[in-house]
Amino acid sequence: MTLANGRRYLAIPGPSVMPDAVLQAMHRASPNIYEGELHDLTYSLLPDLKAVARTAHNVAIYIGNGHAAWEAALCNTLSRGDTVLVLATGRFCTGWGEMAARLGVTVQTIDYGDTSDIDLDEVATALAADKGQRIKAVLAVHVDTSTSVRNDIAGLRKVMDAAGHPALLMVDCIASMGCDRYEMDAWGVDVTVAACQKGLMTPAGISFVFFNDKADQAQGDLVSHYWDWRPRVAPDGYWRLFDGTAPTHHLYGLRIALDMIHTEGLEAVWARHATLARALWAAFGMWEQRGPMHLNVRDPSKRSCAVTSVGIGSGNGDRLRQWCEHQAGLTLGIGLGRDPADAWFRVGHMGHVNAQMMMAVLGVIQAGLLALDIPHGGGALDAAAAVIAAS
Ligand SMILES: *Cc1c(COP(=O)(O)O)cnc(C)c1O
Repeated sequence: MTLANGRRYLAIPGPSVMPDAVLQAMHRASPNIYEGELHDLTYSLLPDLKAVARTAHNVAIYIGNGHAAWEAALCNTLSRGDTVLVLATGRFCTGWGEMAARLGVTVQTIDYGDTSDIDLDEVATALAADKGQRIKAVLAVHVDTSTSVRNDIAGLRKVMDAAGHPALLMVDCIASMGCDRYEMDAWGVDVTVAACQKGLMTPAGISFVFFNDKADQAQGDLVSHYWDWRPRVAPDGYWRLFDGTAPTHHLYGLRIALDMIHTEGLEAVWARHATLARALWAAFGMWEQRGPMHLNVRDPSKRSCAVTSVGIGSGNGDRLRQWCEHQAGLTLGIGLGRDPADAWFRVGHMGHVNAQMMMAVLGVIQAGLLALDIPHGGGALDAAAAVIAAS
């Protein structure tokens, strides 16, 4: 017997749960790509995407996953031989830096390990040491999905300004957009990278690069025909937006997802994520009282509201994930980038997530801990319920 049959829940940090309305909007015949409805719909997405990124600048859409948008951001702003400063707080920023290195960019990395956020004083020192201002861009990840660390992007900008350093600030918001508060213009970010399959609730396949004029003017010799963002933001000619056939069905899905975000209100979306995350942390805070479980990020103010990384002791991460998947229909995220990976798991709580889903995740984890005899403190579900009740 298994208790897994029934509607399954993919609680991993991307792809996230796709709303039925998004899937239904995609379930249709291919549209006329030359004129009419599809063009109007595409143009309608642009201001709404910018609203979610809190920017008045440009957005280019790419047919590709987050890695594609990473490469687009690098190619549009850098030249071979340029230097970038990578502020690594987990696997993802490290990966973005590796991509830059493959492009012939010199990568200077400050690695903060797996549990800490960016140390702004260390950044100030690195920028002050860069007397010739060789660093062309600072690369940071708002929420690193492997560690669930959330970085202070506004603080990073202040440090760069205080140093009088002209480098671009480029931020990966793939995990956090539509989940954790993010204010591209107010925080002084020059380039923001995002993708559709996490907080934006659309099946994986399209990604976004938001950029301001300073970033546009930086364009160097790494830019290529396909990645060039300029034609993609040009108002004259729909065909230039995608350099070929539009990702038709993704556009229909994204239209509905953005409608959902705007109907709820972005502030309310962020508040929902914050409250659900607090409920989750409250439960883990009780489980942590006994046994091997521990939240990866100790300081709640440095935790993402979109994903949570949990250590649970060698072997137990995989055991718990397998149990939840096969006995209860709940899929948790793997211990990405951790050593040993099987001592970790992650919970994705991004996008189309509500209180009953969060309580279900916690209830199933509770059952898994009991079934597998993993020691843990009591009162976790009560603690989570209390947060939800108080909201
Ligand atoms: C998911 C994710 C990526 C990679 O996105 P893909 O669509 O898998 O290429 C990069 N950065 C962060 C922070 C992510 O969460």
